[in-house]
Order: sequence, then structure tokens, then C-alpha cells
Amino acid sequence: MLTALKGNIIEALSPDILGIHPSSYLVLEDGRVEGIYPTLTENMAETAVEDFGDALILQSFSDMHLHGPQYEYMGTGMDRPLLEWLETYAFPTEAKYSDTSYAREMYRTLAHDLIQNGTTRVAMFSSLHTDSTLILMAELEKAGVTGYVGKVNMDRNAPPYLCETTEESEKETLRWLEESKRFTLVKPILTPRFAPSCSSELLAFLGKLKAERDLPVQSHLSENLGEIALVGQLFPDCPQYWEVYDKYGLFDSKTLMAHCVHSDRRERAAMRLRGVHPVHCASSNNSLMSGISPVADLLREGQKVCLGSDVSGGTTLSMLRTMANSISASKDRGALQQDFSQAISIEHAYYMTTSAGQTFFGHGAGFTVGEKLHAIVLDDTKLPKLPNITLRERLLRAVYRLDDRHIRAVYSEGVRRK
Ligand SMILES: [Zn+2]
Repeated sequence: MLTALKGNIIEALSPDILGIHPSSYLVLEDGRVEGIYPTLTENMAETAVEDFGDALILQSFSDMHLHGPQYEYMGTGMDRPLLEWLETYAFPTEAKYSDTSYAREMYRTLAHDLIQNGTTRVAMFSSLHTDSTLILMAELEKAGVTGYVGKVNMDRNAPPYLCETTEESEKETLRWLEESKRFTLVKPILTPRFAPSCSSELLAFLGKLKAERDLPVQSHLSENLGEIALVGQLFPDCPQYWEVYDKYGLFDSKTLMAHCVHSDRRERAAMRLRGVHPVHCASSNNSLMSGISPVADLLREGQKVCLGSDVSGGTTLSMLRTMANSISASKDRGALQQDFSQAISIEHAYYMTTSAGQTFFGHGAGFTVGEKLHAIVLDDTKLPKLPNITLRERLLRAVYRLDDRHIRAVYSEGVRRK
């Protein structure tokens, strides 16, 4: 059956190019994109049209780095640097997720709020608890959020109440992978928390598992200088941070590496060569005073940069706010260096928030024909009607001024969820 959404359609075709279709029809066949047309042709006369008037129809968002159990204390402790913040806030809260009924309640709220904010694809860290991780996957799937969730592995440098033995970590990872087979929209992703929290033995186990089962991987890389120094002490045989992951086979085109704020030329060359996807988390980098990522340089180098909210190092679940924060951070870097080429554009920000994530999950960029619809309707029609304002300008303005209250509709997997 043919259906269509009507409005001003904007898609991210490449990091530099927006596809802009004023007052057009996004036609669907059984929830899959059939095409975008300025008018409906005769053979489409029977199409059921949802007319959103002058509102913007956008791709829904992909949040490629966030921590599920951290959502509940988002905004707390934003005056501490990373390692101190982890010990004071992150680890004690995460420990509560050994309680599965507590986890269900919290994760149901998170899944609901993601959809309200127009995020339909995620790459998310859970905690080390297998059963709560399965609950997180179930709650996301029920709400219509798709993507990857990882049971966290950590067998050292963690508080005793939040640390597995190597053997437990391996055994529980296998159980989690087995039990994850029941999900269709949410898939498992191997998740060594970061190099310092995993022994060499555990990393070797994960690398072997990845190779045997062709699994994706997510972790953290070069977020903060203290962390980089710690990795140097723990892995003296690896000259650079990335080489720890690489040594154990955890650094390829199915790998997401959050932050990469302090990655130098050599580390960045390795990421590009291996096809690793860096995930830029501007809000978190600011809150934890980690640094300002050279995101414009990364894009110029052809790195496959995605955006992450990094809740709760980041202080918002909104990918609209995350885009605005990314643009602002790039300008801070440009201002500090008096180098205006450091500023990223709305094209960059929108691409990194939508199509970059889609391609990591194996989909095309933009509204690809044949794929199930993932879209939002963002209503900016209450903002002043400026003469001659373009749709590109309206998108940039909407990123700065609108939030979840202005998201009128959300579609995931071809189904309306909001
Ligand atoms: Zn993180």
C-alpha cells in the first residue's frame, strides 16, 4: 500500500550536500521509501497522504555513543574531570543495575525519551549486568529504537562492587550473546569499557569472539590526557592508545571509537586506514573538560565521524542540541586557533547525526529507496516567518531553537512511534 508524508523534506546525502525538496511527497510502500516527488503522479492517486503543511521532514537521529545506566543522573557532577567523575557518579549509579526491576523502570523511561527526541538508532553502552542489558535491549525494541547495545566488559581498574573476574566476564558475554538472539531491532555490540578497564586476557578473548562471529565493537579512545597516560602505563608495549585495540583485533570498519579528541596524525591515519568510525561527543568533551575535538580536520581527512550525546558525560539526550553543541565546539576551536576552517557547517552536523550512523548500520545515506522509513517531522512553523529564508537556513535555525516539544511525529522501521 502506498502512503506519503508531505512537507519540506531535507536529507543528508553526503557530509557536504543536503538534498532539499520543498513541499514534496515522501512516498512509502509498506513503510519503505519508494521515492521523493514534487507532485503525485496519476498512478499514485490512491496514496494516503499525511500532510504536515510547512513543517520540516527530516531523517531521524542516530545517537552513536551513550550510556544507558547514566541517563538518570544526567547533569549531575558536571564540575569534575573524567576519572574523578567516573568514581563519584558513574560507577555507584551503574552498580544499581544489578537490580533488574530497577533497570526495567529506568530503561523504559530512556527508550520513551529517545523516541520523543527523534532518536531511532543508537549504539549504547549498558552496564556489566547481563540480565539488565537484555532488559535494555527489550525496552528499546518495544519503543521502536533500533541499533546496538553492549554489555560492558570490565575486569580491572574498577571499584570492587562493579568489577567482574576475567572468567565471569567471558562467561557472561557468551550468555548475553546467546540470549540476544531473540531480538530483531536491537543487536549486540562488543563493549570493552575502555582499554584501562580490561586485562589483556579479556581483550584477547573479545578480539577472538569478534573474529569468529563478525561482531561490531564500541569503546573509548583518546578522550582525555590523564586517560591516555594511564593507557601508556598499563600497556607499555603499545606506543599509542589505538594500538591496544588494534593488537587484539578490535579496531576495524565495524568499530566505533568515542571521542578521539587527542588523536594525533598517526592515530588518525590508523583510524582512516582501518575504517574505524570516530564518534564526536561535544557536550561531554566540554562538561568533563576533556578538550575540543578537531572535528573539521577529521571530516576533511575523510574520517567517518558520527555524533553521540554521550549521556551522561554529555548533558542532553537531544540530538538537535548535540548538533548545536558540535557546531559551537568547532567554532571555539577555530576561535582559539584563529583558524576559521575549524568551524563545521549545518551540512556536516546533520550528516553526522543521521546518515553517518545509518551507514555504520549498513544502510544508505539520506532517504534511501527500498529502506524502512526512519524520519521525524520537526515543526518550526511557530518561529518568525522571515522573508526569503531558505530551507537550509530554517534547518540551522531549528537546530539552535527547537527541542522534543517541536517534534510532531517520529517514524522508525516504517511505523509511526510518536
Ligand atoms: Zn562514554
